[in-house]
Amino acid sequence: MTANPLLDPVTLPRFQTIAASDIEPAVSSVLLDNRRQLQTILAVQQDTQATWETLMSPLDELEDRLSKIWSTVSHLNAVMNTPQIREAYEKCQPLITQYYTEMGQNRELFEAISRLAARADELHLDQSQRKILKDYLLEFRLAGVDLPAEKKARFAELESMLSSLSNRFSNNVLDATMNWSRLISEEAQLAGVPESTLQGAAEVARRKGLEGWLLTLDFPCYMGVMTNADNRELRKEMYTAYVTRASDQGPHDPSLDNQELITRILTCRAELAQLLGYRHYAEVSTARKMAGSAQRVNAFLQDLTDLAAPAAHKEYQRLREHAKEAYGIVDLQAWDIPYCSEKLRQQSYAISQEELRPYFPLPRVREGLFEVASRLYGISITPNTEMETWDDSVSAWSIHRDGELLARFYLDLFTREGKRGGAWMAECRSRRALADGSIQTPVAYLVCNFAAGAGGNPSLLTHNEVTTLFHEFGHGLHHMLTREQHLRSSGINGVAWDAVELPSQLMENWCWDPEAIALISAHYQNGEALPEALLTKLLAARNFQAAMATVRQLEFALFDFRLHQLAGEVHSAEVFEVLRSVQALTSVYPVPEFNRFQNSFSHIFAGGYAAGYYSYKWAEVLSADVFSAFSANGVFDSQTGGRFLERILSRGGGADPLELFKDFMGREPQIEALLLQDGLLRPEAA
Ligand code: ZN
Repeated sequence: MTANPLLDPVTLPRFQTIAASDIEPAVSSVLLDNRRQLQTILAVQQDTQATWETLMSPLDELEDRLSKIWSTVSHLNAVMNTPQIREAYEKCQPLITQYYTEMGQNRELFEAISRLAARADELHLDQSQRKILKDYLLEFRLAGVDLPAEKKARFAELESMLSSLSNRFSNNVLDATMNWSRLISEEAQLAGVPESTLQGAAEVARRKGLEGWLLTLDFPCYMGVMTNADNRELRKEMYTAYVTRASDQGPHDPSLDNQELITRILTCRAELAQLLGYRHYAEVSTARKMAGSAQRVNAFLQDLTDLAAPAAHKEYQRLREHAKEAYGIVDLQAWDIPYCSEKLRQQSYAISQEELRPYFPLPRVREGLFEVASRLYGISITPNTEMETWDDSVSAWSIHRDGELLARFYLDLFTREGKRGGAWMAECRSRRALADGSIQTPVAYLVCNFAAGAGGNPSLLTHNEVTTLFHEFGHGLHHMLTREQHLRSSGINGVAWDAVELPSQLMENWCWDPEAIALISAHYQNGEALPEALLTKLLAARNFQAAMATVRQLEFALFDFRLHQLAGEVHSAEVFEVLRSVQALTSVYPVPEFNRFQNSFSHIFAGGYAAGYYSYKWAEVLSADVFSAFSANGVFDSQTGGRFLERILSRGGGADPLELFKDFMGREPQIEALLLQDGLLRPEAA
């Protein structure tokens, strides 16, 4: 029998050796063994009083073993997908889910951890250990583990109903989206639509054996038309189809209407919240978040709305004038807004992402990024030629500080057959103290999807792509520069959802700073700096219609958060009432009566964002606020960097995120920095 490379606990994944056929045996064997060991760990707790060493350390051990294997498998499935790997992955995924459900429902484990938590003082547990126990117990409670039997049964019933309702909700959205299409046979009808959208639509038509262009409600096609098509009737038709998906309005099949599902989902969540002892579902959501309470989120959204709405009205006024002057449109409608905005943007800034590419060759951007990180955090990043990779285009790196190896990471930056789209950071190894007293150093995967260089030239990035790389690297630094000793608090583990984007969004700021841009840009042929005129336009275009974008996000966030503060049985009339009250605050232009965007709002009705949509803005506020501290002291000030590293970045999930934030800023988060950054507040008014 040959050894299964996935079960090798010591080395990093041996990508060249692992075969798809290793996956299922490795996962099954670890799950079996983990279940056995959990029994042993719990049996010991019966006889002795639990200590960190007899309970939590062994649990970390089990978790780490499984996560090493499963993170490797998930990674392979994402970056070198083959039918064999996908099949093995799909076979194992339910086994993993089942295992975690079992752990989350394990009453014996819950009680053992509760007993340990009760003795925290006696055992002199430190802040990280207490935070881990607190998080553990909260998850158990939110999973209904400590409910009395009859409530537990109802809880399970509600969970299962919610999962099927959400599933139906998202299927209706998908079906309504897919069922609609519009065949265009005369190219003149599509005047203004960019080549990439046209090619896509022609390809879709061809696949269906049709001649011409088949427009669909897939987002790229929809936005391509809405932003660029000169044909106003066509824009109106597509807008109407898009905003009425899964509703009884517009051109859709009424059997896909999500209206009733919305009220049933909200009713189930409200009951679930009450069973758990909360007033409403918004409290369930904030229980595990940095914001901490519904009141704080309400106040936050209200404050931001009050400040952004006047600026949004001004932006809209300017757009109306432009539409009238340039196109003779006097009754500006919802379906004119993306189109007229794009024209106004081009006229005001005349800058395209393509123009910027020659100034952002990947090697220069990467060196500049490493330089930024090294100035801020005193680290050095060097190539690591010993780590085995999964593709020749992937590179590996080590991070040192004062001679100490802190972490390693893989950079997989180019699109490739069998690789999923998008950009992300994922954990390969997490930092933790091992039983023998040594430290397991963290290892990260950093993945993007840039076009590789062609004709001997380096890969040339748009500024958006540069920002993406910085964003993911920020997540990577959070994972890699942690000093936490325990799996559940190290790096991004245990970090509240509305705080986890702080380090990533913070890094993006250096892509907008002239001093940093000088470090990360240079013409790929002659090394010339980004011309002043281009730089000015790039920076000016950043805030175009920022207030309108802000109130749009606030509309979603307020609608979501207010809906989840309803209690008892929720009726359609209440949903509309909430929507009207929110739109009164956030809408800068009249929303057509037939608009039913809520019927396709899958983020909150079928995704994980219920009463959590505010997190997007919340994290932006945090990162802008923190960056203001850097700006004040110079964006490369190593003291500010060192303080951020020590008080937030390295602390991972080892303390309450609001406490960490206050420790760094000396106060609670304030929204002014974001408003300044977005140009919604003038510096002297701040
Ligand atoms: Zn992110």
